[in-house]
Amino acid sequence: MRRDSDTVAAVATGAGSGGVGIVRVSGPLAEAVLRRIVRPLPAALEERRVYVGRAYDPSTGAALDQVMAFLMRSPRSYTGEDVAELQGHGGVANVAALLEATRRAGAGLAGPGEFTRRAFLNGRLDLSQAEAVADVIAARSERALRQAQKQLRGELGEGVRGLRARLVEALAEVEAELDFPEDEDVGATAATVGVAATDVGARARALAGTYRGGRAVREGLEVALVGRPNVGKSSLLNALVGEERAVVDAAPHTTRDYVEAQVVWDGVPVTLIDTAGAGGAELEGVQARGAALGQRRAAGADVVVVVVEAGAVSERDAAVWRAAGAAAGRVLVRSKCDLGGGDAPRPVWAAGQVVTSAVTGAGLADLRCEVLAAGGVGLGNGEAEELVVVASARQRDALLEAAAAAEAASAAARDGVPGEVVALELRRAGRALGTITGEGLTEDVLAAIFSRFCVGK
Ligand code: GDP
Repeated sequence: MRRDSDTVAAVATGAGSGGVGIVRVSGPLAEAVLRRIVRPLPAALEERRVYVGRAYDPSTGAALDQVMAFLMRSPRSYTGEDVAELQGHGGVANVAALLEATRRAGAGLAGPGEFTRRAFLNGRLDLSQAEAVADVIAARSERALRQAQKQLRGELGEGVRGLRARLVEALAEVEAELDFPEDEDVGATAATVGVAATDVGARARALAGTYRGGRAVREGLEVALVGRPNVGKSSLLNALVGEERAVVDAAPHTTRDYVEAQVVWDGVPVTLIDTAGAGGAELEGVQARGAALGQRRAAGADVVVVVVEAGAVSERDAAVWRAAGAAAGRVLVRSKCDLGGGDAPRPVWAAGQVVTSAVTGAGLADLRCEVLAAGGVGLGNGEAEELVVVASARQRDALLEAAAAAEAASAAARDGVPGEVVALELRRAGRALGTITGEGLTEDVLAAIFSRFCVGK
C-alpha cells in the first residue's frame, strides 16, 4: 500500500498519441527523480524554469526522448508537493518509456485522481473544487464547462462556508445562553436563532434543488414523446430536429418501438425519444412488444411530453397524462393547431399547455423552453447561470441533511425546547455542510470520490 507521502508519477496528458506528452511526478523525491533522468541539469535547479535536455533510462543508461523539464517546489504546485514535469513527444510508446524511467528513478505509479487528491489533502483545493476538476475534464458542452469552472473557482464552497458561519454564530448564542442563563434574554435568543436556522435551512434546500438542472446541463436530458396513435408525435419530433428522423404516416402505429434523435437546446444536450403510440389493448404481437419497449424507454425519461390533438382532447388523453406520472417533469402539447382548436383552454387535468403545429412551426420555441424548465434547467441567458449549481448527488444529500437539521433547530427554538437540543441540531447541520467542502470525511468516501477521476489528474 502506497502512502500519501510517497513520490508518484503518471502520464498527465490524454490516452493516445498527441503532439506532446507530459509525465508528472509529485512528492518529496520529485527533484531527485528528475535528476536521475534528465541531463544536462545545473547543480541548482530554479523552480518554474524550463530546462531542455535528453532523458535517459536510469537503469540502462539508454538515451530516450529529447525533453523539456521543469520543477515546482512545495507549496507552489498543483498538488502542494514538489512537482516535476517532463514534456516529450506525445507518442504512446514514448510517453510510456518516460513514465517507466520515472518508476526506475524511484517514483511509484499514481492512482486515479491522485494528484488532485493530494491537492485537496494539502489544502490547495476544497473538496467541492476537487470534484469540479473531474467535471471540467468531463464537460462535453460549453455550458457544462462554464458550470464546472464556476465550481472550480470555489463558488459552491464559498456559499456553503457562508451558511456554516451563520450556523456557528447561532450556535454561539445558544451556548452563551446555556453557560450564563441569567445574562441572557431567553426569548430574544430563541427568536434570532430561529430566524437564522430557518434561513440557512431554506437556502440549503434551494441549493439542493439545483442538482437536477445541473445534472441535465452536464449529462443531458432525456425527453420522451408519448400520446395516442396519430396525435402527431413523430411529426413533432421531426419538426424539433429539423429533419425527417421518424417516419410519419396517416396510418396509426407507424412507429413500432421508439426512435431517438439528438439535439442541443440552450447548450443542453437533449435526447428526444418518440415512442410507439400509447395504446392500447388493440395491439398484438410484435406491435404490442414494440409499444411496451417504447413505454419502458419513456418511463426512465427526465421529461415526458404528452401529445394530444388540439382539436380533439379526450378522456383517453387524460389517462395518458396520468400514466406519465408526476415524478418526472411533464409537459402537455396540443398538436396540429393549424387544423384548429388551438385557442381552447387547457384541460383541467393538466398544469399548463403548449400549442404547436409541426406544419407551421408554431409553438416549437415555447416547447423547447417548457421542456428545459420541466427538466430543472434555467435559461442559459446568463441570469440563471449566475446561480451556483450543485454538481453531485453527494453534495445534494449533504445539503438536504443540513436543511433538515437546520429546520429541526429552528422548530426546537420556536417551541422553547431546551437549548441543548437546538445546539445538537445546529451542530448536525454544520457537520453536514462541512462534508461538502471536505471536512470530517472518512477515507472510503474520499476514495469513492477520487476513483471516478482519470489517472494523471
Ligand atoms: P404519431 O402516430 O403520433 O407519431 O403521429 P404522426 O406524426 O405520424 O402524424 C399522424 C398524422 O397527422 C400524419 O398524417 C401527419 O401528417 C399529421 N400531422 C402531424 N402533425 C401535424 C400538424 O402539426 N398539422 C397537421 N395539419 N397535420 C399533422
